[in-house]
Amino acid sequence: MDSCDAPGLMPVETAIENMLSVVKPISKTNRLPLAETLGLVLAEDVTSPINVPPFANSAMDGYALQRADLDRTDTLTLAGQSFAGSPFDGACQSGQCIRIMTGAELPAGTDTVIMQEETEALGDQIRFLATPQAGDNVRPIGDDIQLGEVVVAKGHRLSARELPLIASLGIASLPVFERPKIAFFSTGDELRPLGEPLAAGQIYDSNRYGIRALLDKFGCEVLDLGIIPDDPAQLAAAFAKATSTADVLITSGGVSVGEADYTKDILTQQGEVGFWKIAMKPGKPFAFGKVNDCWFCGLPGNPVSAMLTLYQMVQPVLAQLAGQSQYQAPQRLPAIASTVFKKRPGRTDFQRGIYQVNDKGQIEVATTGNQGSGAFSSMHQANCLVILEQERGKVQPGETVTIEPFNASMY
Ligand code: AMP
Ligand code: MG
Repeated sequence: MDSCDAPGLMPVETAIENMLSVVKPISKTNRLPLAETLGLVLAEDVTSPINVPPFANSAMDGYALQRADLDRTDTLTLAGQSFAGSPFDGACQSGQCIRIMTGAELPAGTDTVIMQEETEALGDQIRFLATPQAGDNVRPIGDDIQLGEVVVAKGHRLSARELPLIASLGIASLPVFERPKIAFFSTGDELRPLGEPLAAGQIYDSNRYGIRALLDKFGCEVLDLGIIPDDPAQLAAAFAKATSTADVLITSGGVSVGEADYTKDILTQQGEVGFWKIAMKPGKPFAFGKVNDCWFCGLPGNPVSAMLTLYQMVQPVLAQLAGQSQYQAPQRLPAIASTVFKKRPGRTDFQRGIYQVNDKGQIEVATTGNQGSGAFSSMHQANCLVILEQERGKVQPGETVTIEPFNASMY
């Protein structure tokens, strides 16, 4: 692990690769009822024990018939009905048709459904106005999912897009990885808890609220250890407590050049930690290592930097730890700059932007303005990050940039 004194800045991707090369997935798994698995990571493939649908059924309200009959006649005799949950128990003979509703089982002896709107009923004589293809409006057995098929792979994090799918297979419980246990605290003599007045030179500890919110979203179990002052004894005690109970300790503050030596002294006594300078703006200082059996991620103290390093650099590490082998980094898209983006070559910028689709159907993005690493209102105003490559300079309107939309999806 490189130290703070190493020349040059470490590219963001290198830092992530370094961490991913050493962190192993949690081995402990539990079997939980399906309804309790939202946000957890599957520990085994889900294989379908049935065909879905389990029987051929109708996609329409109408009449089921043998398609070949319509080559001889356009009128068939109504011989029964098949409703969802109460199928026709018999076989449809040549010259006959069966009234059928959406989702109802296709009766034996039929292969096609004609929708009601394309028929005329005269008593029990049904006249067909359309000439369908054999198999029209029929959902075959196993049309969606086949018996024995892997439906959701091990390592997938379960969302509202998977739970109904798994429920449709009749599976009541799932093996899932335990949630990673993440302890976190803020460091700094200047920090005050909420609800207390500020004395001169003090600020409120805001970082813990963003860290906790993101960790919840990532599906972690959180352990909030509060604010720890810049005092060696108290810091040492907090590190010891956290690293003996958690899988990962995340701190904010105390890793910048002026303060790193301080934290470094404590951490080198307790474990092996690298203090890195990342080619990322905001968020240059970052610490990573291991203390006891606990991984340690030291985030910078500036509020925007703390959130962005947690989101960009620590999120993939936590995903790997959680067993998420199917993890996909947040999607990035090209967009046209509609304003200037100030930038100097040397670091990858994660600026805050507002994107929209213009009247030509193109994505365009504007800056939120103040990009200071302490200006957290930019996070609230933005709906995306604007990622400007390390060697890029100032961006002019009309240039193409990469954006990463914030995830507002209900799924
Ligand atoms: P540091 O990384 O400790 O040098 O902190 C960098 C800047 O972030 C300083 O202005 C700190 O006051 C501020 N800061 C550090 N921790 C927090 C926190 N938990 N909440 C809000 N601001 C913080
Ligand atoms: Mg500090």
